[in-house]
Amino acid sequence: MLRQYELVERVKAYDPDADEAMLNHAYVYTVQKHGSQKRASGDPYFSHPVEVAGLMTDLKLDQQTIATALLHDTVEDTLTTIDDIKANFGPEIARLVDGVTKLSKIEQMPEDERAAENLRKFLLAMSEDIRVLLVKLGDRLHNMRTLHFIKNEDKRRRIARETIDIYAPLAERIGMYEYMREMQALAFEHLEPDAFATISGRLAQIREQEGGQVDAIALAIKQALAEAGLKVEVQGREKQPYSIWRKMAERHVSFDQITDIFAFRVLCEKPEDCYLALGTLHTTWQFIPGRFKDYISTPKNNGYRSLHTALIYSGSMRVEVQIRTQEMHRTNHFGLAAHWAYKQHDEPDGQVAWLRDLIEIVDASHDPEELLENTRLAIYQDRIFAFSPKGALFQLPKGATPVDFAFAVHTDLGAQTIGAKINGRHMPLRTPLANGDVVEIIKGGDAEPQLSWLGFVVTGKARAAIRRAVRHKEREEVAELGAKLYDQIAARTPAKVGKKALREALKRLDMEEEEDLMYAIGAAKISDHEVMEALVPGSTADFEDNTDDRHNRQPISIRGLKPGNAYTLADCCHPVPGDRIVGLRRKGESVEVHNIQCLSLASGIDNDWLDLDWGDRSGVAIGRLVVTLYDRRGTIAEMANIVARNHADVRSLEQVRVENPFATYEIDVEVQDLAHLTRLLSALRASDAVAQAERV
Ligand code: MN
Repeated sequence: MLRQYELVERVKAYDPDADEAMLNHAYVYTVQKHGSQKRASGDPYFSHPVEVAGLMTDLKLDQQTIATALLHDTVEDTLTTIDDIKANFGPEIARLVDGVTKLSKIEQMPEDERAAENLRKFLLAMSEDIRVLLVKLGDRLHNMRTLHFIKNEDKRRRIARETIDIYAPLAERIGMYEYMREMQALAFEHLEPDAFATISGRLAQIREQEGGQVDAIALAIKQALAEAGLKVEVQGREKQPYSIWRKMAERHVSFDQITDIFAFRVLCEKPEDCYLALGTLHTTWQFIPGRFKDYISTPKNNGYRSLHTALIYSGSMRVEVQIRTQEMHRTNHFGLAAHWAYKQHDEPDGQVAWLRDLIEIVDASHDPEELLENTRLAIYQDRIFAFSPKGALFQLPKGATPVDFAFAVHTDLGAQTIGAKINGRHMPLRTPLANGDVVEIIKGGDAEPQLSWLGFVVTGKARAAIRRAVRHKEREEVAELGAKLYDQIAARTPAKVGKKALREALKRLDMEEEEDLMYAIGAAKISDHEVMEALVPGSTADFEDNTDDRHNRQPISIRGLKPGNAYTLADCCHPVPGDRIVGLRRKGESVEVHNIQCLSLASGIDNDWLDLDWGDRSGVAIGRLVVTLYDRRGTIAEMANIVARNHADVRSLEQVRVENPFATYEIDVEVQDLAHLTRLLSALRASDAVAQAERV
């Protein structure tokens, strides 16, 4: 840990006018306030703010920033108040400490709100004073350096994830590449320990096998440039496991396919030397097209300047080369911070110049939308932030609609949604929300989630809630149908069936609620026979003829079959008497009777075809219909009524498709013959519950 005098000396080294007494005061203040608090490492807590202050001296930041770093956790973690800070260190430092404290508070919020709040407050803090952000980044970097002391793995991973998603991109944003790289490297180690170990291992292997490669290439570059009359410094390095891993992920390649694991830096004396060096390298080695970037003539927004290119060395090895001046290199490392520190002593208005730089960066993207476009805060790019009328902030995926918003606020609110106002105006529920929209949900008392919403909602929460509600509604409707069928069944029992018999039946069937039975009947999960037996045990034995036991039913006779030939009415086309039919005899199986128009006949072309006709003995055949109902309460029951009025029976019912405002069912009905089925179809088509009814 830095000692008090060491820290002060460091500041004095780059700022001889620094207020020694104030810095000493801040140092002693933080030591006293944090007292005997301990870090996870076992070190005294105050070692942390002191280390963060040390990081700030590396950036040559002003004394206010150094004091802020020293004090940054006092308000958050001790009894100190902002007013105490103000009384002791003045309004400027108090404001900076307040800014850092606010950011720290966000870190303790639940994850959802935290991410959203983070963004907003970061932006505020950044545009207010970038020194808040610099201290926060120093704070995070030191916490990452000591992350391995934290025992709880989830916590470690959460901090690492947040670092890689939020803080590293922010560091990059303001050009602090050193911070960015170190944060990424440390976070990667904790997030992907296996990948980290594997890649580090492979790198070590390569280092062993090709020992001295890096030095050899650096020397070759240096010699080539010396021949062109350039005096340069060449630095060679391996890429970091994280950047290799990211490349593997981005390009979907394996480690072996990553060829450019070496990167070199050529540091020149003057800017024009950089271009000369570039030309020399491009004529000495083959360069990879598309990889050349000129950030000297067009610096990045954060001030980064360099030439980038990639060469093919000794036939196969790809190497990245960055060419820049020594001065650019210094500035590039710490970006805006260095830029500022570098300038402030030359210009009397250094602080103002620095602010101008900052404003340029944030300004180019003043509205959050654009800032997002311009930053690589990938975590936020696919999100939007919308507010409730009371100002609560909700984070949603891009494309989210008022319905998603409503479900994000509360499941009950989502369920009752009937309309929405966006920024005070009535808008359709399918309207995609924009960043910053104020969304007011209009609810109706007995409103229900609509199936059609599934067509536009984007959040899992909304989707799941809508599905749940719809399934529930469907169940209710099927149970309603079941109740009607139940009345018919009950009427056929020999004894009068009342509530008591029903309760007994439920017990026998091991069901809890009446609705369970009605649903089972409606969905044809239980046969009429079973229901009757449960209601009046033994009843079906005595009244066999009256029962609906389909298996004992007399089969329809078919002409054209040899005596004793078994047959089945095909499941694909459900022929009924009156249809023109044909028999298909597959080897070793009974004869399948198909409607002559059945498409599946094509698959039986190699089998025996029998010319069949319906016999005189009538029975019951099953016709399959596809019926499209208006998707509203009661239409299923209405359909069942029509079937019953036409003396047919629903054998099974299955929902096949829902497309607002329609719901389509496949329904098997027992009918006498084609005429019966046709009559039923006409009746169905006549109903205002039915949009369409067809035979399969
Ligand atoms: Mn801290």
